[in-house]
Amino acid sequence: MAVPFSRRAARLAGRAAVGLSDLVFVPGCLRCGKFRSRRRAGVCLACWAAARPPLISAARCLDCGGTGCGHPEPPWSWMTAALAYEEAGRDLIRLYKFSDQGGRLPLARPLAGLLAAALQATAISLDIDLVVPVPSHRARRRDRGFDAAGHLARHVCAATGLPRPLALIRRRGRRGPRAGADDGHRSDYLLRPSAGRQVAGRTVLLLDDVCTTGATLRRCAGLLAEAGALEIRVAVLAFTPRRSFASPAGME
Ligand SMILES: [Zn+2]
Ligand SMILES: [Zn+2]
Repeated sequence: MAVPFSRRAARLAGRAAVGLSDLVFVPGCLRCGKFRSRRRAGVCLACWAAARPPLISAARCLDCGGTGCGHPEPPWSWMTAALAYEEAGRDLIRLYKFSDQGGRLPLARPLAGLLAAALQATAISLDIDLVVPVPSHRARRRDRGFDAAGHLARHVCAATGLPRPLALIRRRGRRGPRAGADDGHRSDYLLRPSAGRQVAGRTVLLLDDVCTTGATLRRCAGLLAEAGALEIRVAVLAFTPRRSFASPAGME
């Protein structure tokens, strides 16, 4: 008699275990896959903490990290970034940008919060008249279901009280050959016809998600400067240090 009873007990215990695991099941961290309950936007707090700030400084060349190196001055007066584009920082941004149909959009708010904090840490972030995001390529926006920098910009502006972002730059041409990065060797940027009037004499914050070579930011800042912007500042979520700005056709 003991055998059927223990079988039944085992069956019941098994059912109870399944029921319990259904109740307390927590999916793993989107980055590391570990089952940690303390998370933000699906990413565990350890992964958030592993994302480091970038080592950039206003006094140093953004290209090589040196001083007096002869690399061309960027067309902006100032730049800030929240994260180094490496390891955890890069993974978080990829989770935000390259998920299907914007399914990771919950990451937008905490990532924007990091950039908002980086901006608020500097008094120079005040007195900005216009916020202009660098646009994604149309095809990429269609693939992802959202515009990465534009969406980030809306959250940053909401968190900092900066004016709502304006889509004054548009992108045309075919997108670049390399998947997974915003390189657009065959695409270019131009200002919308109405932009000249809005930009002239104003201080503009140009905002992008990632600065790798800096070529896209240089191109866009150049357009704003041509349109008569008084001053251009740059905010990027993540920055890849020590990459050359020098390649002539380089569009990141
Ligand atoms: Zn994690
Ligand atoms: Zn340099």
